Amino acid sequence: MNLKNLKVAILGAGRSGKAAARLAMKYGAQVRVFDSATAVSNWPEDIPLTTSATTDDGKEYAADLVVISPGIETNCEFVTSFAGEGVEIIGEMELAARFFTGKIIAITGTNGKTTTTALLEKILIHAGKTTVACGNYGLPIAEVLLFDEIPEILALEVSSFQLETIRDFHPDIAIWLNFAPDHMDRYTKIEDYYNAKLRIFENMGSQDLAIIRTGEAIPPLHAAIQTFSSESDDATLSYRDGKIYEQETPILDLSETVLYQRHNAENVMAVTLAVRHLGISTESIQEVLNEFSPPGHRCEIVCKHDDILWLNDSKATNLHALEAALKSQDAPVILIAGGKDKGLDYHPLQPMLEKKVRACVVFGQITDQLYDTFSPIVPTVKASDLKDCVVKARELAEKGDTVLFSPGTSSFDMFTGYVQRGQAFRNAVNELNSN
Ligand code: ADP
Repeated sequence: MNLKNLKVAILGAGRSGKAAARLAMKYGAQVRVFDSATAVSNWPEDIPLTTSATTDDGKEYAADLVVISPGIETNCEFVTSFAGEGVEIIGEMELAARFFTGKIIAITGTNGKTTTTALLEKILIHAGKTTVACGNYGLPIAEVLLFDEIPEILALEVSSFQLETIRDFHPDIAIWLNFAPDHMDRYTKIEDYYNAKLRIFENMGSQDLAIIRTGEAIPPLHAAIQTFSSESDDATLSYRDGKIYEQETPILDLSETVLYQRHNAENVMAVTLAVRHLGISTESIQEVLNEFSPPGHRCEIVCKHDDILWLNDSKATNLHALEAALKSQDAPVILIAGGKDKGLDYHPLQPMLEKKVRACVVFGQITDQLYDTFSPIVPTVKASDLKDCVVKARELAEKGDTVLFSPGTSSFDMFTGYVQRGQAFRNAVNELNSN
């Protein structure tokens, strides 16, 4: 792409907006960043910035290209005011990918993206490849393209928001982990969320590889397809008794690793298919699996005290993640759930509650909704805050139980994010158990 002397409007002065601006400047564009916030802290002086930006600024600027950050809704008036007749609106990921000549392994799904991306990065590095985990993972691709040494492969976590603004984006390998309702505060229809995610395959051809969980509803693709499943043998790779099988042959053993739970086994199978396609051996993969732990707050063990296991799954910000966490439990569960109202319907959880849960403690903005949905199935109590949840869960738990904190929604009603929420849970558990 030739950006020389093009007038580029970058919308959103966050990390990806800043990186997109630097990248466009590097390639000779005339750049201005616009943000509707009244002030932006720590902004570098050499990148032109308009704060308190309005649609009038949009019309006046007359951009040749508009690049938007993933947090901004594509079709809002603010965005369209920048794009005159025939002006392209793309996201930071699309812009940056146009300047990357190596291989892209892109990972999407409602849950498991971060764990899978982290594991992929580790396996590639262990096999001697240069790579970096980036994208929705926290490091914008545009920033990677500003490195002195650009890696040969990108382990790229991709969200539906980023896929909304692609045009030519073309991964060599795409992983589709799973799909379930989420982000219904941003999307009015579930189809919109699904169709945004599906765009990961849009520009892939027969030389590319799509790795898809068996049973996912995916239309016919141009790319070659390989599949994985933890529930059926009808897949390129399947999982049973702690081992990953290719047909009847066990190729990897998860039983002695922290990745033995079903949902993590799915992540491992997806990554295995991707890296084997690049010629990496199962021996090399197994070496990494033996050492790897998912990032924190994902079904992480806080402690075992008085024969009660406490698990922190604060990253479970939707009901699919909560369901996956329950599915992976063998002991009776005391479930702590609740948080912000994201417009999700929790009734589909009822069969899993019946199978796995002894009692629930609910809290946050959706306390009443969860109480009404859960209490006809299992004993459910309301709590005023997370500390109160921990105290009530302890009262309900019996020896041998697992207390699972898997909120099933986001945290923004009470916390700055899942990390602060998970930390608050750990603290409350440790405090209770030290008394
Ligand atoms: P994401 O980046 O997609 O949010 P994470 O790896 O951060 O994914 O995990 C989010 C939540 O989903 C955690 O609660 C985790 O335990 C759960 N999870 C991880 N992998 C899977 C999977 N393959 N299927 C369902 N849930 C999963």
